[in-house]
Amino acid sequence: MTLASGREFLMIPGPTTVPDEVLRAMHRPAIDIYTGSLVGLTDSLLADLPKVFGTTGKAFLYAANGHGAWEAAVTNTLSRGDRVLVLDSGRFARGWGEMAKMTGLEVEVLPGDWRRAVDPAAVTARLAADTAHEIKAVLVVQVDTASGVLNDIAALRKAIDAAGHPALFMVDTIASLGCVPYKMDEWGVDVTVTGAQKGLMTPPGLAFVAANARALAAHETADLKTFYWDWTFRQGSEHYQKYCGTPPEHLLFAFRQALDLLLGEGLDAAHRRHALLAAAVRACVTKWAEGGAMELNILEEAQRSNSVTVVLTPGLDPAALRRWCQETCNVTVGGTIGEIAGQGIRIGHMGHVNAPTVLGTLGVLELALKALGVPHGAGGVQAAVECLSAGLTEPR
Ligand SMILES: *Cc1c(COP(=O)(O)O)cnc(C)c1O
Repeated sequence: MTLASGREFLMIPGPTTVPDEVLRAMHRPAIDIYTGSLVGLTDSLLADLPKVFGTTGKAFLYAANGHGAWEAAVTNTLSRGDRVLVLDSGRFARGWGEMAKMTGLEVEVLPGDWRRAVDPAAVTARLAADTAHEIKAVLVVQVDTASGVLNDIAALRKAIDAAGHPALFMVDTIASLGCVPYKMDEWGVDVTVTGAQKGLMTPPGLAFVAANARALAAHETADLKTFYWDWTFRQGSEHYQKYCGTPPEHLLFAFRQALDLLLGEGLDAAHRRHALLAAAVRACVTKWAEGGAMELNILEEAQRSNSVTVVLTPGLDPAALRRWCQETCNVTVGGTIGEIAGQGIRIGHMGHVNAPTVLGTLGVLELALKALGVPHGAGGVQAAVECLSAGLTEPR
């Protein structure tokens, strides 16, 4: 028999569950793009986005996915032949580097480890060796969705400063903004990119980029600029210029509603919610791991992301586990990708997640382990409950 009828739980690391209010906000006719409420909507988004990024810099809106935001960041600030240093800690910074290469940049990857965060000392060492300052930008992700790592962006800024290096610092927050604290100005980040469809609870199709004064100054002389991504054109006075064409109206309606939810909850409260739910996921998986069939991919607790948990599963077939959850219980968790493809699962817990969605997902995974005869430590879900219970009663 099956228990799959009813709502699907989409627990992959993006796209994530879109709240009903956000879906409803899109269910309306298109409106004029030259005058009226859409112009005010754009202004409100451009005013609120910097708050979410933690910057007083400029924000740009793109009809694009995260890959588009990557391209916007590098083409607006760099020139053909410039060298960029990619800080590897999984799949995504490398992907950003692959894109940068095709736009005409020299890309160097600082080798990383899929089970650990980027080592700030290695960054300082590499930049200190670049006495001619050939490296023009440093690219890193805050949370790598492939490995489940959380990089310490403030520490990486300090690492760049310790080398006295002037490279622009660019950070991908696609799988972390709205989920974990991010302070663009305080941490000295020059360009931040993100997408709508993960922590920001909006359907895929919008990308956002924030640039500080240093990045805007670099933009003046950058020669990789192309018409669609160009920040100068997008700062023009005509409304359509903000989107370089027709605004993606319905996604904007959705994003406004999603921002209202996020800012209504409060960024700090949203970060605490993600932290506690993620801790519950890790407590549960740690219990299951006592059976010897699985382990958390990221080795150090402080480097584990609160938006996605990557679990290596040497003692079970991850595809069979995922299929069972999907077919029997309508719960979808992700598979691993990149170097660890086929070796584990990824549990997304970002955006519109709460205790029932997380406990429900963990309950179904535990049921699957039992049904498939996978050896696992007993009491995983109980450990998650204990963790939530302790977190909810903790004074703050
Ligand atoms: C999802 C993701 C991307 C890619 O975003 P797309 O919208 O799929 O282009 C980039 N970086 C990180 C960290 C991601 O999680």
